[in-house]
Amino acid sequence: MDKNWSEMNREMQALLAKKATFSDGIGRLLELRKSIFEQITQIVDTFPEKAFDQMPFAGADGYHSKSLAYSIWHIFRIEDIVAHEMIAGDRQVLFDGGYAETVRSPIITTGNELKGDEIAVFSGQLDVKELYRYARDVTGSTNRILTGLEYADLKRKFGEETETKLRKTGCVSEDESASWLIGYWCSKDVLGLIRMPFSRHWIMHVEAMRRIKNRLCRMARKGVDTIAYCGFSCGHCFLGEWCGSCRTAYNTCSYAMVSPDRKCPNAACCQAKGIDGCYACESLEACEKGFYIPSNDGANAAKAQAMYIRKYGKKEFLKALDRLREKYDFKKTQEILGQDHREGLRILEES
Ligand code: SF4
Ligand code: SF4
Repeated sequence: MDKNWSEMNREMQALLAKKATFSDGIGRLLELRKSIFEQITQIVDTFPEKAFDQMPFAGADGYHSKSLAYSIWHIFRIEDIVAHEMIAGDRQVLFDGGYAETVRSPIITTGNELKGDEIAVFSGQLDVKELYRYARDVTGSTNRILTGLEYADLKRKFGEETETKLRKTGCVSEDESASWLIGYWCSKDVLGLIRMPFSRHWIMHVEAMRRIKNRLCRMARKGVDTIAYCGFSCGHCFLGEWCGSCRTAYNTCSYAMVSPDRKCPNAACCQAKGIDGCYACESLEACEKGFYIPSNDGANAAKAQAMYIRKYGKKEFLKALDRLREKYDFKKTQEILGQDHREGLRILEES
């Protein structure tokens, strides 16, 4: 489990257990949910639509065997049902917000009953942007419910009446792979629901989404030039797990993500000039465009690497980076090459 989330989860549980620290516990829970939700936002914001119905671990045993779209749907359908049908006793966000139509889901259930290809087909039918809006609204709505809870509410239990009500909603499939959920939820008190659908369930599914995303990035990079337009090597980049390369649709380079149209200006410039990368450009050394803007902390390192590629070629460059890794302990190449691009080039040459 993600160390940070696991620690927050542990702290939240300890704080909720005592009346004196209950409201701090709710605060910690909201922080944890915010941190996990940011991961979902990042994936939805940066990944191409076609990524969301892919199942790179299809057939595996575990949450990572699903798709990104399915994971989002499943997490927030469960939360919506539990938060509104059980705790608040009001209408679900799916119906209140009109998401049953806009998300374009053919089902209103949690999706537990779907198997194999059905998951991929279902995922492909969803409008991912609307699905994200639904997830965001469910999160906000649950957060409000959580904020309104008092310590005494934690012990509230749910009986047969709630079970019957839940079955009537049709939001949980009668298939045996799904129908157990109702008994499971109703066996818990409010504290138990906080511990699972509202926190741990998120962690488990979003961690699985990370695995799916990382695998999709690796698959996208297969057979693609691993040298980025700016001169960095994707194989040596600290974002290598996260990013699918600026030469593919799975580019999630942090610089590109904050650039207009989410396109790295250096990549756009190279493409407009019809060149392979900035290392093939005669203006390289004096260039201050995009990633090479002097205020960018990676500018000198990227330029030094592009200059090395221009002088010695990509093959030698990758060997030089391997040697640099053996010689120094660093996360980003700018920690070693970032002072000045000529000095960075010299360090690479002497590595
Ligand atoms: S951030 Fe740049 S160098 Fe790193 S993996 Fe993405 S495209 Fe490659
Ligand atoms: S002008 Fe700058 S950004 Fe454009 S290709 Fe040349 S070095 Fe790269």
